[in-house]
Amino acid sequence: MFSTFFVNLCIMITFMYVSGIIAKFYSIRVPFPSIRVQLIGGILFGIYGTVLMNYSFSINESTIVDLRHLAIITAAVYLGGMASFISGLVISILRVVIFGLSSSAIDAAFVMVLIGLAGVYFSYAPWSRLTKILTMNLFSMALIFIILLMNTTSINEFMKIYPVQLTISFIGGIFIYFIAEFINKSNELLFTLERRASTDHLTSLNNRLQFEKSLKFQLEYAREHQKKLSLLVIDIDRFKRVNDTFGHTSGDAVLKQLGRLLIEHARPVDIVSRNGGEEFAILLVDCDQQQALAVAERIRKAVERYLFSLPDGNTTRLTVSIGVAVFPDNCDDKDDDDFFEQADRGLYEAKNTGRNRVCVMKKRSLPLPVQHRL
Ligand code: GH3
Ligand code: MG
Ligand code: MG
Repeated sequence: MFSTFFVNLCIMITFMYVSGIIAKFYSIRVPFPSIRVQLIGGILFGIYGTVLMNYSFSINESTIVDLRHLAIITAAVYLGGMASFISGLVISILRVVIFGLSSSAIDAAFVMVLIGLAGVYFSYAPWSRLTKILTMNLFSMALIFIILLMNTTSINEFMKIYPVQLTISFIGGIFIYFIAEFINKSNELLFTLERRASTDHLTSLNNRLQFEKSLKFQLEYAREHQKKLSLLVIDIDRFKRVNDTFGHTSGDAVLKQLGRLLIEHARPVDIVSRNGGEEFAILLVDCDQQQALAVAERIRKAVERYLFSLPDGNTTRLTVSIGVAVFPDNCDDKDDDDFFEQADRGLYEAKNTGRNRVCVMKKRSLPLPVQHRL
């Protein structure tokens, strides 16, 4: 029996570890991932339960028990109700497919579907994951108790066996909890690190590193699919004055509000970043020069109209200067750096010609007529 229990633990570790890798690879957050993830996860946990069913414990000559219900419990607690129900269903179906249709197969299938359904309730219960695992384990073992009692020939014999099964089930459940929590915690840490590495802490926009990655990716995409790509480089005019007049905290508040304003004026596919200090950038995907200039002008006007609120209750107004570059129209289409440099030159031109304006440069840095503000 101990060797079977050991095999069961090994199966649990393997399955949890592989699930953890899949979750990490697809950035799946638990519990309650998307319906699609719960559906696929439910099927996988159903297979997991079926594997456990094949490594059952012979408690005496006539009784074998297994830990398949632990797969449903894990699906309920770490994925959600839908995954719980699907895994119960899959275990029931595979039980009949592998061992044939019999009255005990129908009983077992019924119990597993019931545990799966109960998992819908347990997954939403406002308890800690450990409490959920323990309670659902108790519920499952109570159901299994009733079914085994109905099928046993000797109550005395059964009453000797059941406590052993109950103990094994609880040890298995607690074991799953510690392994799953460890995997989940390390995944969460990785997601946090990845987010921090790509996000600007103040505005929650992309940071410079992420911007550079996106720029490279989008340029390759535009080249391959012969699409246009536009870039706006946005810099706050005389931002130093905000810091000097109202303090650094007020400056930070302004940067946050500007970040939100830029997101509002970009489409979900566009990539908005804070590249450092008071300089922002927006990559406008599949966007030609005319559209890019229209977006830039809309942003410029929106900032000009916006009343920035400061932590001390004051308000202030600001303007921005914007440099625009369009790939491949006004940059060297073989040189990735030139795209950004053209937008930067546009920005420089906008600053030099009075600020609060949008500028786009021709190839080889010849200025086009400046887009004067209206
Ligand atoms: P210009 O119109 O030429 O762009 O003038 P400017 O004052 O905006 O530009 P300058 O480069 O002289 O100053 C930028 C200021 O931005 C200086 C710096 O103190 C401030 N700054 C940079 N990063 C932050 C930040 O994270 N928070 C705050 N509050 N200020 C910042
Ligand atoms: Mg500035
Ligand atoms: Mg600047």
